[in-house]
Amino acid sequence: MRISSAFDSGNIEVVSAASADTIRLRIRKDNESEFFQWYHFKLFAKVDTKHVMVIENANESAYPKGWEHYYSFASYDREHWFRVPTSFDGKKVTITHTPEQETVFYAYFVPYSWERHLDLIQWAQQSAWVEQRCLGTTLDGREMNLLVIGEESPKKRKVWITARQHPGETMAEWFVEGLLEHLLNEDEPVSRQLLDQVVFYVVPNMNPDGSVRGHLRTNAVGVNLNREWAEPSLERSPEVFHVLKAMDAIGVDLYLDVHGDENLPYNFVAGSEGIPSYDERHARLENLFKDAYLRATAEFQTKYGYEVDAPGAANLTVASNAVAERFKCLAFTIEMPFKDNDDLPEPYQQWSDTRSRQFGRDTLKAILDVANDLR
Ligand SMILES: [Zn+2]
Repeated sequence: MRISSAFDSGNIEVVSAASADTIRLRIRKDNESEFFQWYHFKLFAKVDTKHVMVIENANESAYPKGWEHYYSFASYDREHWFRVPTSFDGKKVTITHTPEQETVFYAYFVPYSWERHLDLIQWAQQSAWVEQRCLGTTLDGREMNLLVIGEESPKKRKVWITARQHPGETMAEWFVEGLLEHLLNEDEPVSRQLLDQVVFYVVPNMNPDGSVRGHLRTNAVGVNLNREWAEPSLERSPEVFHVLKAMDAIGVDLYLDVHGDENLPYNFVAGSEGIPSYDERHARLENLFKDAYLRATAEFQTKYGYEVDAPGAANLTVASNAVAERFKCLAFTIEMPFKDNDDLPEPYQQWSDTRSRQFGRDTLKAILDVANDLR
């Protein structure tokens, strides 16, 4: 049995793989960090034979509850991904699959490769509405890419969107891809209406190094970027440092930071209720956006989510809180599931790359609904 993960976003350690019915695996920790949960590997299999793959350190992962009712993704062609039977006994995750072909890829969620990221920004650049900028470099020397969409003008609202601070949350970049496809479609009325009033500043991948290294949550040196927004540094968190510097230079009227949540089988947002400057205007804007989001797509809901921070109790190292406070603007963390959206279950793929893209697309309608009220 051969298993490999020496490729973009690969992650697995093989304990033993002597026979198809006992393949023992462990997920590797993020470099210089205790976090792990993302896996992505290729198996050379025996066709039409049941393979039992056990992830032995699942209960030590960042979110053990994330394995409950979770089903692994698999793919033969690396384009079409499907779910396979997976179980969690409280300690180990067991993936059971009878491959129809001699090699199969498995992953925690549909991967979004660095090559695809590079394709995405070059594709976007072909639009007359888009300007690509480089904000700086990461610790591994990769570019921090920013797409500026729409003609800049002091009169227009400035909407910032960042994705994949946590690199294992690949649905976040699928979301951005769907949003961009729709926004850059010149035949699309929503996008024309939006670009009359709004300039978009989009960072499709906030954590290129962690993405390529196959990390769950951190950058090249094990830093959780979504806890760096109070005092980012070039040594620990250049990704945040460069983006925040650009935000300071440009301004922010709305900020959406896109993530995936390992546990909750729903789409939801987390607001800024606990920041020091939170007031009635901010609360009204948050409600306007959430109501618009509910109208825009049945994939969004407000019943399930994180506990709301008490007044003044916000963690100001978190991106959406830090930006909301710094720019006195509307800001949300958007969370999508790794499992399914239990409000609209789809048993074959569950939550997927396709649904993430559609959710990104529908987010534009919610932004349009609140654009006028942002300032
Ligand atoms: Zn996250």
